[in-house]
Amino acid sequence: MTAYEPDNIFARILRGEIPSVKVYEDEAALVMMDIFPQSRGHTLIVPKAPSRNLLDAEPETLSSVMPLVQRVAKAVQKATNADGIRLAQFNEEPAGQTVFHLHFHIIPVYEGTPLGR
Ligand code: 5GP
Repeated sequence: MTAYEPDNIFARILRGEIPSVKVYEDEAALVMMDIFPQSRGHTLIVPKAPSRNLLDAEPETLSSVMPLVQRVAKAVQKATNADGIRLAQFNEEPAGQTVFHLHFHIIPVYEGTPLGR
């Protein structure tokens, strides 16, 4: 598989080279709003460890970030009053990955407003 590319857009956001709408940050992860939201409140969780995606990540990265993924899902649901929350995560281009730094999508779903992918 292709190696981690340190100049991907999320790595640049993590280094502060590109602005983002940050929701939360700690030593292990950044939470920000998606620049092209699939629905109101679409949020991204980006672990800081340099992993290309789930196939490339260290188990420790995953075990430290999953509680945050749950916290963000609950907070976004509460803030948006969404009827459901989709957790999405894509690995490699054929699967729909476009930014090659591990991240998790929290996508609020509203009844009567179907989502795409
Ligand atoms: P994926 O790689 O899982 O397909 O999705 C990448 C996501 O990153 C997309 O939902 C896209 O809208 C979002 N995205 C791409 N570039 C930027 C950016 O510069 N800032 C932010 N906040 N999101 C971005």
